[in-house]
Amino acid sequence: MCGIVGYIGNKDVKEIILSGLEKLEYRGYDSAGLAMINKDGMHIFKDKGRIFNLRKIVNNDVESTLGIGHTRWATHGVPNKINSHPHQSSSKRFTLVHNGVIENDDVLKYEYLSKVKFESDTDTEVIVQLIQKFVEDGEPVDLAIRHTMSEIHGSYALAILDKEDNNTIYAAKNKSPLLVGIGEGFNMIGSDAMAMINHTDNFYELHDKEFVKITKDNVEIYTIYGNKIQREPYKAEIDATDIEKGTYPHYMLKEIEEQPFVIRRIMANYKDENGNLHIDEEVLQAVKQCDKVYIIACGTSYHAGLVGKHFLENIAGKHTEVIISSEFVYNTPLLSGKPLFLFISQSGETADSRAVLVKVKEMGYTTLTLTNVKGSTLSREADYTLLLHAGPEIAVASTKAYTAQMAVLAILATLVSNNINIDLMKEFAILANVMETLCDNKDIYDKLAYQYLKDSRSCFYIGRHIDYYVCLEAALKLKEISYIQTEGFAAGELKHGTIALIEKGTPVIAIITQECINLNTRSNIKEVKARGAASIVISTKKLSAETDEIIMNDVHGLLTPIASVIPTQLLAYYAALHKGCDIDKPRNLAKSVTVE
Ligand code: GLU
Repeated sequence: MCGIVGYIGNKDVKEIILSGLEKLEYRGYDSAGLAMINKDGMHIFKDKGRIFNLRKIVNNDVESTLGIGHTRWATHGVPNKINSHPHQSSSKRFTLVHNGVIENDDVLKYEYLSKVKFESDTDTEVIVQLIQKFVEDGEPVDLAIRHTMSEIHGSYALAILDKEDNNTIYAAKNKSPLLVGIGEGFNMIGSDAMAMINHTDNFYELHDKEFVKITKDNVEIYTIYGNKIQREPYKAEIDATDIEKGTYPHYMLKEIEEQPFVIRRIMANYKDENGNLHIDEEVLQAVKQCDKVYIIACGTSYHAGLVGKHFLENIAGKHTEVIISSEFVYNTPLLSGKPLFLFISQSGETADSRAVLVKVKEMGYTTLTLTNVKGSTLSREADYTLLLHAGPEIAVASTKAYTAQMAVLAILATLVSNNINIDLMKEFAILANVMETLCDNKDIYDKLAYQYLKDSRSCFYIGRHIDYYVCLEAALKLKEISYIQTEGFAAGELKHGTIALIEKGTPVIAIITQECINLNTRSNIKEVKARGAASIVISTKKLSAETDEIIMNDVHGLLTPIASVIPTQLLAYYAALHKGCDIDKPRNLAKSVTVE
């Protein structure tokens, strides 16, 4: 969640940090701040609100070549100026920014800091006060930070400045993402490569409980015990232009439109030299040899997981269960004898999923991660990784990562299957064209959203079979960005209670892509219309009725979710647009959810 950017070098730091933070805006935040050191001392600017507010309060006369910046997604204390980061120790010697959550802050306050007057309500302030306390007790700064790391429980990415040393940024990490960016005559720290990619594509990844000293010419990585670590840097494969909006008004629209291209890129990346679909044999064997696949995911990835279960069971004949990450940890189901755990996470940093990964690894089980981010925590820590190749997804509401997740799951299921009677290459080529046509005709979504959704307080998506899974995702998308209370429902289930909520004009959007449920879902539409609902039907050409509002060209029956979700993404987009919502950065949400 939120973000950190730090820089030490020869250039003025303000713009480097502010524009770096802007690159992290997509992760969601409520406050922003910046600390810089120069010959006159420490300069701190911070407040709640967006980075353009921070830009307004930063004093442009302050020049500095060393600084740290932060976007906060409040966990302890309301978003306000005092709780915004950076935070300082009482002596003002140490200044710190933190992403994550400290679980034992109250205990530490009581044990070590009972005489300290705290300024903010954050858990973070405990960290900086503790560093100061250990330094006052006589510990050198390195040791005081590592000592603090051993006392705090929870997740943290930290960047720390010492007023008495204007040549160093200290950093530390546990569970929250943090990378070092390496340059010529400068070095950087950031919670995401995107914040640094305009300056360098060379990075050191940091592991949990590591401590780093960064000067403009040197980076030293240590364990929490102070042992020096040798690490090879890696090159990030992000194209800086991939993270620009170009002529699009919103990242979300750009990313929706990129989906046909992403399908083609997936085909190119999962192909061997003979043009056949290909996944590493070791990964395939791991899935083949397990007796049950447990898909672990949250939010949109969970919805992709439900479709993945359908693929794995129907194409590959593999028993599959899909479980919400945050439920698995504390309510672990009875497991099969030889399970395989498949984690789905766009960012590869989802804290809830990581908690499951840690747990099942301790139990000795095989793990596979499906993620968009090479080198992310879930990718590094699982036995195997499959990449989504969706390109950076910036809008908080996921679109192209969701369709990419389903596409890669379809490839996995097809290759695990011994009985391949679906020519996926051909079907994907058709699918990408159908997706393109769906994206081309935007007027229809714009009009429907204006007519039915703009002024609605609630909405339902209904569908059966595999369409039901898409309804869950469609409902999440609409509520995430337009704040219309929306539920995805199994169409046959509505009459068992929820139909009581249908009033005159309530929009009910039905998805129909499967022949076996066509007539049943249409009966359910009649039931809600009889009670005053305003219906919108999304169907395939083969199953369409003349009156259906959105008719998509036919694709292979198993792949329909990858296409039928597009109209729902565009309906959500235009509903949010007509309501004047902040589409790419919806309220209260964060892109990569790195707290449990
Ligand atoms: N827990 C800290 C706070 O509430 C940091 C939150 C964050 O990751 O931004 O201030």
